[in-house]
Amino acid sequence: MNHNIANWIVSKPYDVIALEDLTNIRNGKKNEIDPRYTSRTCSKCGFQKKENRNGKTFKCKSCGFQIDADLNASRNIATFSRSDRSRLSVNQPIVAG
Ligand SMILES: [Zn+2]
Repeated sequence: MNHNIANWIVSKPYDVIALEDLTNIRNGKKNEIDPRYTSRTCSKCGFQKKENRNGKTFKCKSCGFQIDADLNASRNIATFSRSDRSRLSVNQPIVAG
């Protein structure tokens, strides 16, 4: 299933695909896009508070913006990747010959 999802994603006409690196989420080590804040930061105004997220629902305690929590986190990953793009490593696609 992961293989199918990966193929679907790379078939889309985008130049950059940003992903959270969850490898070290539980041991506190730093990742390229820190996953600790993508789910608690408002994708509309940037206000960050743990209480913004309640299960599957995100509702900003500052501006009141409400959206699906995963969609909010996805928008933050896109925004963070734009600001961090120069520091991101780029993996070239493997092309079968
Ligand atoms: Zn907000």
